Amino acid sequence: MNELAQLAYPDVGELLADDRRTVLLLPLGATEPHGPHAPLETDTLISLGICERAAERLANDPEVRALVLPPLPYGVTRYGAAFPGGISIGEATLRALVVEITESLAAQGFPRIVLVNSHFEPEQVHTLREAVAELGPAVRLFDLTRRQNAERLTDEFRSGSCHAGRYETSLVLADRPGLVRQERMAALESKMIDMPAAIVAGQTDFIAMGMDRAYCGAPAEATAEEGEGTFETLTELLVELVREVAAC
Ligand SMILES: [Zn+2]
Repeated sequence: MNELAQLAYPDVGELLADDRRTVLLLPLGATEPHGPHAPLETDTLISLGICERAAERLANDPEVRALVLPPLPYGVTRYGAAFPGGISIGEATLRALVVEITESLAAQGFPRIVLVNSHFEPEQVHTLREAVAELGPAVRLFDLTRRQNAERLTDEFRSGSCHAGRYETSLVLADRPGLVRQERMAALESKMIDMPAAIVAGQTDFIAMGMDRAYCGAPAEATAEEGEGTFETLTELLVELVREVAAC
């Protein structure tokens, strides 16, 4: 069992008593419009999928174990405000949640925590980076916006045209195909929009960026196979970081 919240408290006590180092994974997402085809919880599902795979990969490791914390399905998400369904919290709220959750765990003997984030609105990423810097070296951010991580991901992800496009939709198809409206997906034309450049140019919502249906990239090209392949890469990256955190 790799999910902390599915344990009973005596099981948690046993974890503290044995020799393997425990690293806790906090999946962070958003509830945010992801095109007409993908669920609002796309980012949360992606973070959860990475965490579950990494924990499974380490299940029989002699030195380190990873356990998945209950996910945080709310983030700082304002770009999609023109579309229904998004739920945004503010930067201070996100920061307080992350700081208080990690402090609560550290006080019980679980100081090693990785925040696994799949929602890349700059205010979200910036808030998480600041929180992690404040919390010290045992709390780390799995940050796919860093070049050395992004380099290992797909062309579409690296192009920055990656909101509810081929990259994210493939990941959802790999784990939860029933949540992708595949007829709508197949009919979506590709829309190459460089989101990081648009953000640098001062645009702060999907409509201004030209995303009139809350997506960019090429969702019609998404496949479960690509999603599995991307999950494999993401899992390798996360396991590397978990081992680093375990050693500190
Ligand atoms: Zn997303």
